[in-house]
Formats: sequence, C-alpha cells, structure tokens
Amino acid sequence: MAKQWQKSLKAALKGDSLEELQKSPVYSAKASELFAPVITETVIDLIDWENPDDPLLKQFLPHAQELKVDNKSKEDPVGDYQAEAIPGLIHKYLGRVLLIASGSCAVNCRYCFRRHFPYEKSYAPRNQWQAVIDYISQHKEIHEVILSGGDPLTLSDQSLRTLSQKLNAIDHVETLRIHSRIPVVMSSRIDTSFLQWSKSLNLNKVMVLHVNHSQELSKKAIKAIKKLKKAGYTLLNQSVLLKGVNDSAETLIDLSHQLFGNGVLPYYLHLFDQVQNASHFAVNQTQAIDIYRQMQAQLSGYLLPKLVVEEAGEPAKTLVNMAT
Ligand SMILES: *Cc1c(COP(=O)(O)O)cnc(C)c1O
Ligand code: SF4
Repeated sequence: MAKQWQKSLKAALKGDSLEELQKSPVYSAKASELFAPVITETVIDLIDWENPDDPLLKQFLPHAQELKVDNKSKEDPVGDYQAEAIPGLIHKYLGRVLLIASGSCAVNCRYCFRRHFPYEKSYAPRNQWQAVIDYISQHKEIHEVILSGGDPLTLSDQSLRTLSQKLNAIDHVETLRIHSRIPVVMSSRIDTSFLQWSKSLNLNKVMVLHVNHSQELSKKAIKAIKKLKKAGYTLLNQSVLLKGVNDSAETLIDLSHQLFGNGVLPYYLHLFDQVQNASHFAVNQTQAIDIYRQMQAQLSGYLLPKLVVEEAGEPAKTLVNMAT
C-alpha cells in the first residue's frame, strides 16, 4: 500500500497542485514546456499569493524570462557529464562519490541544472547498483557515499535499505550522506519507517538540506528536521544565491540564524551555475562578494556558509576569491 508521502509525491508529479501556479499573472505556459513545473502542497501553502515577488514563488513558477537564452550559459555548467565513473556514479572528488540515486524530485526548481542534465536517463536504477557497489569496493579511498539526484528521498525505504546494506558491507565506507530538499518541501517523507531505517544504519549519517530562504522553514519542516536530528543525522544546509530570492545579506543572515535555531549548520552558499534558461537568477560575483562580506561581519564564523562555485575539472568546489 502506498504510504502518505508516496501519495503526496505522486500528486506533485501528476501536477495536482499546479492550478494555483497557473493562476499567477506571470505564469508562462511556454516556460513550463521547457521544464515541467512540479510543486508540493506544502510549498503552495507557504507562498504568499498576494506578493508577486514572493521568494518561494520565484523558485517554482515557470516564467517568461526563461525563454531568453544567452551565450554565456551552458547545458552542463559543472562538467558532470565527463565525470561519470560508471552510469549514475560521479567520481569527481577524492574520498567521496556521488550516486545519482534517483531521476526525479518532489519539486522542480527553475534554477536547477537538472533542467538540462538528462537525469531521467543517467541515474543509476536499482538493477545497476551492483556495478556501483563493485566500483566503490574496488576504490579503497572512497570513505563517503553521497546519495544525490534528483532527490534520493524519492526512493522507497526498501530501496534505501537494499543500498545501505550493500554499503554497510564495504569496510572503507564510513559515511552515508544524503542531499535532499524533501524534508523541507514534503516533510511527510520523514516517517517512522524512514527513521527506523536511519537508526539502523551502521554508518555516520549526514544530511545536507537545501533551503534558500527562511520562509521555507515551515512548522512541518522544522518537525521533520528535529526528528532527523534525533535519529542521529549531522544536519547541514546548502543554498544557492539567487536574484530576487535571497540576494541580500539580511535574508541570508536570517536564514543562518533560523537554521541554527533548528539544529542545522550552514554549509555551502553556491554561486548560481550558468544554466541555460535561468540566467535571470544570476547574481554577479562583485555583488555576491559584497553580500558575503556583510554576512561575514555579522555572523559567527560557524554560521557562515562557504561561498563556492563549481568549476568543471576542479578537484573540489572552488572557494570564491574574496580579494577580487
Ligand atoms: C559537491 C559534490 C561533492 C561533495 O563535495 P563536498 O565538498 O564534500 O560537499 C561530491 N561530488 C560531486 C560530483 C559534487 O558535485
Ligand atoms: S535537484 Fe534539488 S535544486 Fe534541482 S530540482 Fe531537484 S530539489 Fe530542486
């Protein structure tokens, strides 16, 4: 029988909550053909529909600006196509691998580079996990496996269990990290069964959430976060610096405080990757540095995310050079 969260996910993917979005005067049907709008009921409820500049609405609403293509942006801005060790497994950095465990998400964020990366085709489906496990077994320097996507929490608990049992059996794998937006946008996913699986893991557990604005931290989301904390996850957050969403020091300082108040430490603040059809989200580097300096002056060091950019071919994310 389908669980509550599985019903919610199905409804989101089917477009059950799109009506509200479509009513917006700036909704663009053409933009929605480029990248299907997907949104959860939770997010619909969090949007202030009276405010056309609502920071949540901006992240999920197909907008006419997406039809503009400029020649600076690329389809694969971070070079992931070339870094695939085997299908669905990206081994770009030492010590850790990224497994594209799922091709779908519970929401489609308009600025995401997933809008061009063919995840539906290139994720590692369950029947290919053995090849993934073999690769990780053979590479003794891999101590951490990152489940990413898409969103790995779209996988069933049964699938997660199967995968984690295989990872548990590899001596040199010490840490399982999950990159997910789902605890915040569809908190019903963090149910008893998921928490039981989490507690049963014989690995260090890290979850990196993706929150861009404190408005996303609903009561439901905070409850889910508390449960994750109790289940033993180290909780971190990554944000993307987005024009019209969170491009002010005040907004990001508030986010850091709200996250910390709920047991989550800021991890990364990503400069926007030049993704085609989303360049209206770009904040230029000079402005980014200006915002970041203000954050640095006002935030305790541990509440300051690292300002990074992903560059194709680099051995790690690149720290933005504050001297420039
Ligand atoms: C971001 C990323 C990681 C993780 O990097 P950390 O700096 O450890 O967070 C790993 N692999 C790929 C391909 C990545 O993009
Ligand atoms: S991968 Fe993350 S940023 Fe991209 S659409 Fe999914 S939830 Fe949004």
